[in-house]
Amino acid sequence: ETRALARLRREPTRTRDGVDIRLFANAESQADVAEAHALGAAGVGLYRTEFLFLQRSALPDEDEQFRAYRDVVMGMSGQPVTIRTLDVGADKTDRTGLSLRDEPNPALGLRGIRLSLARRALFRTQLRALLRASAYGRIRLLLPMVSCAEEIAQARAEIAAMAAALRAEGHELAENIPVGVMIEVPAAALALPAFIRDVDFLSVGTNDLVQYLLAVDRNHEGLGRLYTPLHPAVIRVLRDVIRLAQRHGRPIALCGEMAAAPDYAPLLLALGLTDFSLHPGTMLEVRRRIRDCDYAALQARLPALLRARDRDAIERWLANAG
Ligand code: PEP
Ligand code: MG
Repeated sequence: ETRALARLRREPTRTRDGVDIRLFANAESQADVAEAHALGAAGVGLYRTEFLFLQRSALPDEDEQFRAYRDVVMGMSGQPVTIRTLDVGADKTDRTGLSLRDEPNPALGLRGIRLSLARRALFRTQLRALLRASAYGRIRLLLPMVSCAEEIAQARAEIAAMAAALRAEGHELAENIPVGVMIEVPAAALALPAFIRDVDFLSVGTNDLVQYLLAVDRNHEGLGRLYTPLHPAVIRVLRDVIRLAQRHGRPIALCGEMAAAPDYAPLLLALGLTDFSLHPGTMLEVRRRIRDCDYAALQARLPALLRARDRDAIERWLANAG
């Protein structure tokens, strides 16, 4: 971290023409949370709870989870903290505590919200821990791998039931806990008008969205340049989802790796994105890039971006982004 970059710790994430952009943190440990706070993050945009479950033989019980979530919330001193419910599937190699069956196609299998809804005891324990932590700050619940409205309805019913049970036991909980979904399955992006009223906020997971839109395995090393967000299909879907969210007054952030690439910031601003969620390690570089951008000028160049026919054309657009 150079000195010039370090100075940006105390500077706002504001474009040259005065538009404030919010940088939230992706975190999976207490150290990430502390770093995010020190860098002036607007909150935690994605707390991945997987690490609590992996690389161990026993599942974490409610109290252990509660302590972990409470510490994250308290670490951000009053800023919003978005905690994602468990997102594992048969693709995670070390998953002893969950005893998942091998699957021929883990990316399309029992993972994310599907696993939570299939294993209600597991889901309920996590929800109870999350709801109890809500008494200590501003928690938002984020559901991964949602592909249809029924999953949201079922998850919300569990959340409501767990909240009622906890209150009956005398626990203090926050009044309104926002519930949002990851937009990372193409069907969720395309059918968003059908269920946007059922969610309080959205978070776009481009790591998976790109994989599923392009049918390119995100971990496959032999596919080279095929795995990229710089594809007209990805750009179009992002544009539509961001627009729809804004029209319905639903906060929308982008939490895939795409948000952490300083070079992509002008493209995301052109699409109208104002909330980014990224690992603290790249936060200052992205802040620096955004501070060099002119939001209105980039918006004016959106039609040209939408006309780009292929990756090379999108890269040329980026090269001229200023
Ligand atoms: C994503 O899919 O973009 C995402 C942020 O979630 P994960 O990388 O944990 O699948
Ligand atoms: Mg994902």
